[in-house]
This record gives sequence, structure tokens and C-alpha cells, in this order.
Amino acid sequence: MDFISAQKIILKLLNYFLVFFFLFIVYKKNILNVILSSRFLAYSSLEIFKKIFMLFFVGYVFTPYFNDLLNFSILENFYANSHYVFIVLISLLLIDFFQYALHFIQHNVPVLWRLHRLHHFDKTVDGLTNFLSHPIEGVIGFILLSFFIAIIGIPIEGLFVYTILTAIHGPYGHSDIRFNEKFEKVFNKIFITPQFHRVHHHLDMKRGNSNFGGLFPFWDMLFGTAVFPNKNKIFTNPTLGISTDQKPNYSILSFLINPFKKS
Ligand SMILES: [Zn+2]
Repeated sequence: MDFISAQKIILKLLNYFLVFFFLFIVYKKNILNVILSSRFLAYSSLEIFKKIFMLFFVGYVFTPYFNDLLNFSILENFYANSHYVFIVLISLLLIDFFQYALHFIQHNVPVLWRLHRLHHFDKTVDGLTNFLSHPIEGVIGFILLSFFIAIIGIPIEGLFVYTILTAIHGPYGHSDIRFNEKFEKVFNKIFITPQFHRVHHHLDMKRGNSNFGGLFPFWDMLFGTAVFPNKNKIFTNPTLGISTDQKPNYSILSFLINPFKKS
């Protein structure tokens, strides 16, 4: 097993550990009730399906050809002459900007929204929501990010730090952690907090079409899409999900065909 594959497995295990940590240690949910629920079974089978789907389309179809496709990068000289810490920080900001822009486009281009809307299906947003995304969306996101990283010339160290932070942020950002309101007010201007991201899962898409950021709120603040959770009482118990008449259908088949359904 090469170093990159070992890193990926360790980060995925960290991601899974944190999902369980927030559910069972922080929120003290009953392990048996969760594990035997149809929601958990559907999400874990979707996760396994996604891994196989990604392994095939990314590992065998995309990556072998992509490696020979691009041999230039915009920031090559800049990175060669800059300090290591600076390189990692700039890389984090650039990848985060890419994720912000992609997420914004996913909400505003109808065909991409059909692929993304599954992630907004959850009325109970918690660590398990981290697993709820369509495999085709995952492959498209991976391919676009690979082009972005290659064209900009983001070094492997920058990508590695970003991947660690997102492995942590997925379960943490979808948890219902509520910081003290004064702390929340300051902290959510630096890093995205669970309550800031919860606004994005609001049933009312006027509110849901906001807070697209992944790690940092800067892009939302800069482009006017930030809605801070202490405004308009969103901070307490927002109504989450995608539609009021949405009936939870926790089956992998319904998840997979979701983009092809009318609404
Ligand atoms: Zn979204």
C-alpha cells in the first residue's frame, strides 16, 4: 500500500470515528437505537456504494488519464519561492474558495442542484448527514477539484492539510454543537461553526441558499451569502430539510434515483 492510500484510509477512519464520537459521546445517543435504525442502515450502505463507485470511476477511469493531462501550473514559481507555512495557508484558502464556488453553483444550476439536493434531504442534521451525498456528485466534485489543484499547482502538503480539516469538519459541522452566543459571534467569523452551517440546511431555501462555505466563512462574507445564526432567531431550532411534505424514505435505492425524480 502506498503512502497516499494509507493517508486516505486513516483520514476516512478519523472521519468515521468523529461521526460516532459526536453521536454517542457528545449527544449520548443510544448506540443500538441508531445502528439498528433504517436511517443508519441506508446511510452506511450508501457510503459503501459510494466507495466502490468512486474507486471505479476515479481510480480506474479518471486518474490514470488525468495524470498525463496537465504539466503546467499557475503558481509554480510562487510556491518555489515561498515559506512552507505560507504555502499551506494559501492552499487552504484557494481550495476552500473552490469548494465555496462549487457549492454555490450546485445550488444555482438546476441539473447540479438535482445531484446536490440529496444532501439537504435530512430533517435531522447530525454527524450522519456527513454521509448523505450522491455518488455522481462525488465523482464530478473530485474531477473538478483535481483540475483546479493541477492548474493552480497546489502542493500535496496543502491538499493533505485541507483533507485532514475536512475529515474533522464534516462530522463537527453537521453536529448540533451550540457555543456560548458571545463566543459563536466571534468564532463564526473565523471558522464555520455547526450553527452557521445549520442555516444552510434550513427548510426555507431563502435561508438555505446561504452559507455555502466549507471551512472558512470569508467567502460567504465577501460575496454577501453569509447569514449568521444569531440573526432572526435562526440560532434556535431551525426547521431543516428540503420540503415540508417530504416523507423520510431511508433506502439506498431512493437515494440513488433522487436526482432523476421531478422534485
Ligand atoms: Zn448545499
